[in-house]
Amino acid sequence: MELWQQMIRDSVHSVDQIVEKFGIDKTVAEGLDEFFQARINPYYLSLIREPGDPIWKQCVPDKAELDDIEGFEDPLQEDAMSPVPNITHRYPDRALFLTTSQCGMYCRFCTRKRKVGNSDKISMKELESAFKYLEKHTEIRDVVMSGGDPLMLTDAMLEKILKRLRQIPHIEIIRIGSKMPCVLPHRITQKLVDMIKKYHPIYVNTHFNHPWEITPESTKACGMLADAGIPVSNQAVLMRGVNDDAEVMRELFTKLLKIRVRPYYLYMADETRGANHFRTSLDKGLEIMQKLRGYTSGLAIPHFVIDAPGGGGKIPILPQYVLHRDNDRVVMRNYKGDIFVYREAHNDEKESETSIPIELVEKKDDSNGNGTNGNGSNGNGSNGNGNNGNGSNGNGNNGNGSSKKPKNYKEKIEVTEISSSNN
Ligand code: SF4
Repeated sequence: MELWQQMIRDSVHSVDQIVEKFGIDKTVAEGLDEFFQARINPYYLSLIREPGDPIWKQCVPDKAELDDIEGFEDPLQEDAMSPVPNITHRYPDRALFLTTSQCGMYCRFCTRKRKVGNSDKISMKELESAFKYLEKHTEIRDVVMSGGDPLMLTDAMLEKILKRLRQIPHIEIIRIGSKMPCVLPHRITQKLVDMIKKYHPIYVNTHFNHPWEITPESTKACGMLADAGIPVSNQAVLMRGVNDDAEVMRELFTKLLKIRVRPYYLYMADETRGANHFRTSLDKGLEIMQKLRGYTSGLAIPHFVIDAPGGGGKIPILPQYVLHRDNDRVVMRNYKGDIFVYREAHNDEKESETSIPIELVEKKDDSNGNGTNGNGSNGNGSNGNGNNGNGSNGNGNNGNGSSKKPKNYKEKIEVTEISSSNN
């Protein structure tokens, strides 16, 4: 038995262990075990510094899970988009392939609780129908192996799957979604990476949520994957009490880069039953993103997304940087709150030589808080210097006889963000 397998065996998992180790009432512990079993391996357990800290919250069962009756069992509608067992086919050229129900740790916030834990939740017998589906659907060029955690499979089993996938000519890319580099980095052995690299191009998506998870062990694991030519990217989840803080996030993302892991997505927490206590407001996520952009390298900034409930897929969300837009210009603020104007290209039309100066006026009482409203006088036309306007808008809204504008004409654009943007 390999070390990582032994560590799985040595995990805290029974009701009695939960009661004894974490002081949870026995009846509550039984309820939690029934709802979603625990698995905390000795490595991840050792990262806890004190009760209730960000590591504890991610792995120790919490009574709040039982109080949540509003969340969805399958918030992303993966089962509804599953044409055959173990496959979710949501996007045109990609498919999700569930290969095991087991994980190196059971995360209390897991979106896929319904599939994870007991070995009967994903049947290995049904892999064959999944392969057949992938073979038949020639539009699928990217397969994301997930679960559970595919790196819970033995090297031999994993190789069987990779070999079979590689026999399907239209599958160009294989991605392995695995939390092992974070929760049980001992799983990343030289033998494993030597096997995986035979089936390139292979990518690994991993899942670090807090800078304390970046340890000498996880650094070594990610380095081994990178050395084998396997690009590793990270998908973090924004969670209350875990990482809902810009400084924590900045530390996480910059440390990930140092261990050669590219921050890829930051998700708003899904509306999963039993995980409502982890959810934050969208404003919190936007605030964090705003405090990252410009303050650290772009490489360290993930896409901030909501995985749309009901299976809509990932939708990117950005803080409001564009304050105004019309046919001729985009008014933007940068990370410091300074305002800039970018002139639109009108390649087929004669441009005016200069544009009308814009006076930016702080707008009060805009409950949307986006300050993007123009004031209805969006003409560009001429600058009143006798140049007869460019009339180039090709747009009746903006032209407005602009050549008649006085020399000192200033366009006013109401912007709410001016005074509040010195973040
Ligand atoms: S490793 Fe992934 S699938 Fe497994 S419990 Fe954690 S979040 Fe869920």
